Amino acid sequence: MAYDTLDVPEKGESVTVLDETTDALEVPETPVIPILYGDGIGTDVGPAAQSVLEAGARATGRDIAWLRIYAGESARDRYGVNLPTDTVEAIRDFRVGIKGPLTTPVGAGYRSLNVALRQRLDTYANVRPTYHLDGVPSPVTHPEQMDMVTFRENTEDVYGGIEWDHEDEDVERVRAFVEDEMGFDDTIHDGPVGIGVKPITEFGTKRLVRKAIDYALEEGRDTVTLVHKGNIMKFTEGQFRDWGYEVAEQEYGDEVITEDTLWEERDGEQPDQAVVVNDRIADNMLQQVLTRTENYDVLATMNLNGDYISDACGAQIGGLGIAPGANFGDALCLAEPVHGSAPKYAGQDKVNPTAMILSGVLMFEYLGWNDAATLVRDAVEETIVSKRVTYDLHRQIDGGEKLSTSGFADAVVENIE
Ligand code: NAD
Repeated sequence: MAYDTLDVPEKGESVTVLDETTDALEVPETPVIPILYGDGIGTDVGPAAQSVLEAGARATGRDIAWLRIYAGESARDRYGVNLPTDTVEAIRDFRVGIKGPLTTPVGAGYRSLNVALRQRLDTYANVRPTYHLDGVPSPVTHPEQMDMVTFRENTEDVYGGIEWDHEDEDVERVRAFVEDEMGFDDTIHDGPVGIGVKPITEFGTKRLVRKAIDYALEEGRDTVTLVHKGNIMKFTEGQFRDWGYEVAEQEYGDEVITEDTLWEERDGEQPDQAVVVNDRIADNMLQQVLTRTENYDVLATMNLNGDYISDACGAQIGGLGIAPGANFGDALCLAEPVHGSAPKYAGQDKVNPTAMILSGVLMFEYLGWNDAATLVRDAVEETIVSKRVTYDLHRQIDGGEKLSTSGFADAVVENIE
């Protein structure tokens, strides 16, 4: 594959799709994996995660041909643009990649590069597992009860970018359209206004809910919970719920049962091998993840709700330094930690690389490298259990050794080896 700005390493081969009907990947022993360190602390956690993942691959008889790609500050420095076409193309071509955080200026400036990447790659499911590793300090009494996976719709909702600044003259045309043509007069206060549009489509909802249900079936999870605020936003969030149930009821036969049917026909008794689909109002869900943690497995959410809920779940298992994620499209995976670029810690070799390392674990699972994934995850856990941790965990643990970002990565590599 040829790019104007990137040199593909010679030792690597590409990752190719074998069977289009099953999307099964044929993964070579030395796949090319694009890696984007990202902004801020990305330059700390990126190389740290890279060394750990490489060790995990080597220890299981494989190798990785890393392809450095650029976006954000690193791309501005090199090419004078925020998001080079080659960066997007390389991830699409190799069907896999891992990225660190990218800074998004609040208010003015350029739009989110993360959102742009997700939209251009059509990675429509942002998957955020939240599980507790032994030894990680937590603000709750039973962090081990937290074992949820959030499937967050990644391409629409109020994140779609259809919005108008209060100083943009178009905003007054939108106001006039809404009030005069659509009949919502007197619903918007006079004076300056910013307006955004919240599209929730049947297509976007159903493919996300399908991915969540498929995952629950494959992993033997008990429930998929549709999270929404449909009592208030009936035609967007309420419709997300209804389309979600349509997928559950129409596409999976006996493999999936709704909670209502479970009670109406089976007195609440869940059949073996079946996944139960239920729904919860988003604000209630934020309580339930704390008070009824054990009752939930897989959450299917719209874009904004999923961002909030997965961060709240992440707080129970050690916070942003720990929480991993990955963006999935059809036969495409771009792993990325939940956290941002934390500019005040950038370049200090201080922050926790665990979230980025565990995002790499998700990438390994996508490649079918489950042995390497388990090895890396166990080595991270072992390192934390031995109280060799970065500052964020060290300050919450009695005793222990405070390690730098690279020092923690070295300790994990030692455990792998
Ligand atoms: P942030 O996640 O960057 O940092 C918030 C705080 O969390 C930090 O100050 C730090 O205390 C802690 N933290 C984060 N990562 C950590 C780590 N690896 N180890 C230890 N502690 C860690 O959130 P923010 O300050 O709201 O955002 C900063 C920038 O990052 C913004 O420009 C934002 O838009 C961007 N952002 C990017 C992504 C992404 O690239 N996917 C995600 C979230 C935020």
